Amino acid sequence: MGDQLKGKVAAVTGAASGIGLACARAMLAEGATVVLIDRAADRLQALCDELGPNAKPLVVDLLRGAEVDGIAQGIEDLAGPVDIFHANAGAYIGGPAAEGDPDAWDRMLNLNINAAFRSVRAVLPGMIARKTGDVIFTSSVAGVVPVVWEPIYTASKFAVQAFLHATRRQVAPHGIRMGAVLPGPVVTALLDDWPKAKMEEALANGSLMQPTEVADAVIFMLTRPRNVVIRDLVILPNSVDL
Ligand code: NAD
Repeated sequence: MGDQLKGKVAAVTGAASGIGLACARAMLAEGATVVLIDRAADRLQALCDELGPNAKPLVVDLLRGAEVDGIAQGIEDLAGPVDIFHANAGAYIGGPAAEGDPDAWDRMLNLNINAAFRSVRAVLPGMIARKTGDVIFTSSVAGVVPVVWEPIYTASKFAVQAFLHATRRQVAPHGIRMGAVLPGPVVTALLDDWPKAKMEEALANGSLMQPTEVADAVIFMLTRPRNVVIRDLVILPNSVDL
């Protein structure tokens, strides 16, 4: 518990589970008011009831463009203008490209790429007007290293990195910091799609991390002096060789 984010309004997408929930909890513990954004309405409400009055639920389906475009106003109505926006929501599909289901790819790419960019587009004008803000993406180590067993997911996270690097320098003169946390494998529902044998091997090798490891890294990024940005923070289990 601390007060390093006291007075800040933060918003996290995909906050009803896994990494997003851990990040929301960590931001609350540092004193921020946190808007938890997810499409899982019941889970979101139950979590906010548990997390206390500084946790505010905002139900958004990130695959619906009009809902995403209203995200900045939705955050402001609940908590005030957003200081910290964490574009975290994402999905995962593994397996060889030749065996893929292109409709499932479309859904994943729409979430991992289009919804992430569109939600950031929604919050940037306010941050530019206020001359301050932090935007963080949950990317992946697959955003910097092509992972052979997950080519489409890898492509989605490379796109996140490209958007971040191109946009960061454009918004930096407006006092906005933009960075990404790039985790290796983390124990969340996202890995439900992993083959059983691969999961058992990873657990046996100690090569899975907890969502709190990512949340600690995000708090570190957010609490640097404002003239410093942590742009790409890769977090790996020490046993992983990528
Ligand atoms: P998760 O499945 O536990 O959580 C994802 C959340 O996103 C869920 O609460 C879900 O309801 C929400 N969501 C999904 N579709 C949505 C939509 N259309 N609109 C609104 N909300 C939606 O997954 P996670 O592991 O916590 O993943 C979070 C991020 O971390 C993703 O971007 C993922 O790519 C990234 N990541 C995960 C791992 C890992 O190993 N788990 C590793 C690296 C990066």
